[in-house]
Parts: sequence; C-alpha cells; structure tokens
Amino acid sequence: MERVLYIMKPIQDIFPLLQSPKKIFITTHHKPDGDAIGSMLGMARYLTLKGHHVTPVAPSELPDFLAWMPGVSTLINYEEYPVIAQQALNDADLIFCLDFNDFSRTKHLETPLAEATQPKILIDHHLFPKPVWDYGVSLPEKSSTCEMVYDYINLAGDNDIIDLDIAACLYTGLMTDTGSFKFPITTAGAHTMAANLKRLGLDHTRIHEEVYDSWSEGRMRFLGYVLIEKMEVFHKYNSALIALSRKDLSLFKSQNGDTEGLVNYPLSISGIKFATLITERQDEVKMSFRSKGSFDVSTFARHYFDGGGHYNASGGRSKQSFADTIAYFKKVMFENHPL
Ligand code: 5GP
Ligand code: MN
Repeated sequence: MERVLYIMKPIQDIFPLLQSPKKIFITTHHKPDGDAIGSMLGMARYLTLKGHHVTPVAPSELPDFLAWMPGVSTLINYEEYPVIAQQALNDADLIFCLDFNDFSRTKHLETPLAEATQPKILIDHHLFPKPVWDYGVSLPEKSSTCEMVYDYINLAGDNDIIDLDIAACLYTGLMTDTGSFKFPITTAGAHTMAANLKRLGLDHTRIHEEVYDSWSEGRMRFLGYVLIEKMEVFHKYNSALIALSRKDLSLFKSQNGDTEGLVNYPLSISGIKFATLITERQDEVKMSFRSKGSFDVSTFARHYFDGGGHYNASGGRSKQSFADTIAYFKKVMFENHPL
C-alpha cells in the first residue's frame, strides 16, 4: 500500500482565511497549565481584537493560580459545559489547537475534534505531532506555545495590537514553561520577547506572585509532608520518585493545582537528574517526568507510559493499579536511568 505523505500547510497560509470575520474555536490540553491557558487566552484576545468571534474552550478546570488571568471569564470548561462547548465547535469556521499535538491530550474532546471537519490549525512545541492538522507550526525548539503565539502575531504584522492583557497572558506561559527562564530551552529570543513585553509596561512581578506566591497554607504544609514522607531518593540511579495516592491528596484538602511543580523539587538535590511524580487520580494513574541534562524523558514516557512531551519534561499514564504502577516504574527506572 502506498504511504500517504502528510504535509501540514504553513501557518501563514491561514492569513487569507482570516481576512473576513470568522467564528473560531480555540482549545488546549486537559489539565491546562500556564502555557496552555496563557497561549489560548492570548490568542483568543488577539483574534477578537482582529474582529473574529472566538470561543476558548478548556478541556478541564484551570488551577487556582491561573484564575487571575485576563479573559478567564470567557473560558468554557468542557467538563462543566459540554453541550455549549460542542455547539461552539459545531458552529466554528476554524479550529485552533494550542500546546498539544495529539487529540487524546484533550481527553473528552478527542472524539469531537477528530470528527470535526473544519480546518484545524496547530501551534505547538511538543515532539512528534500527530498527522491530523491542516495548517500549523510545530517547533519543539521553542520555549513555549506562548512564544509561538507571540511569533505568530509578529508574522501577521500585528505587533502593535499586543496590549497589556495579551502581554500578561503570553508572559505567563513563557515564564512557566522556561521554569522562570532557567531551562536550557530559554533562548535569546525568549528573553527578547520578555524585554519587548516589558517595554509595553508588563508587570512581571505581579504575574510571578500570582502564579508562584499565592499558595494556601494547606498547600505549603502538603509540600512539607510530601518531601518528608513521600519522596524516595535513589542516589545510585541519580533518580527520585514521589508517589501520591488518593488518600495522600485528601489529607491536606489539596486543591486543583496543588501538585503543580512538586516533580521539580527532587531535581534540586545534587546528583539527581531524573524525577518522577506518580499521582493516583479518579480514573487513571498519572505520571510526570522531569530531567536535567541528557536523559530523554520524552522517550521514556512514550516507551513505558503511553505518553510523551519534551526532552526534559514529559508525562504519561498507567492503566495498572497505583501500587503496580509504582512497582513497574521502579523496575524500568532501575534499568533506564541517567548515569
Ligand atoms: P506534566 O508533567 O506537567 O503533566 O507534563 C509535562 C509535559 O509533558 C507537558 O508539556 C505535557 O504537555 C506533556 N505531557 C504530559 N502528559 C502527557 C501525555 O500523557 N502524553 C503526551 N504526549 N504528553 C504529555
Ligand atoms: Mn507548553
């Protein structure tokens, strides 16, 4: 059988389609983070200012530390309002997909997106995009989808449309996906973007405080509990594991978003280059992987845990029980770990 070569048309090919007002559906991945919500709301506001009718749909609830973001009141949570979200999808002329590259990352939206016949546009920086988009840009070397939305607006010649709300949205994802400008993915271009947003008057301190310094007391105590009771460090394998059961998550009345960033803590231990967080959720066991240096957690996630992501930050899932997942993880980690 002949192989059909998949070619996604370049993103600028949609500019002619956007000459007249369009109905646009924008979405992102399940359990959205700062880059997901920032890129979606930044893009939504930009397209709205260009005269389009835009509906941003998040596949699930956003974490509390993003509740301040400009435009959150326009967001529809698919899990809460599936009928309204589906109607917006049906009515749309164009579908923008931001910060994911596989429909399954949207969970409940997977089938609706797959069945939608309107042109689909991808803006994303994860490895290995699925061949399902008509137009788009996929650049794993970019720090964040927010940086790519910024590039898109510049490519469209609309730099002067960027206002403080768009700037706040795009800075949020740039900041969170670069680990506050510390990960190797933070290029000169990422800093230039931040500098340009600062020139507009961006209040970066406020954004940092909203995202990182707005913890509840319970979340802080939960972190203490996790680091003392739940973190296993395997110095021999340069690796560490935090595994949280549903019971652990209920102990401190943990809110949505309270596990955010936990996986990074073990990487601050000298010699630890691979950190894993396993969380027992209602319907599955979720994994988060982070690494420092040359250990490729994207391949690890894809190979063993039906996942993927970036070289130094990836995720996956397991259909096994919580206990079996931990045992399986340890087995494969003992065989595949950074040297
Ligand atoms: P997190 O650990 O924060 O959930 O995810 C880390 C990175 O891996 C994010 O960029 C996220 O989009 C990606 N990721 C998380 N879970 C999955 C998954 O199940 N499949 C794939 N392909 N990517 C994932
Ligand atoms: Mn991202």
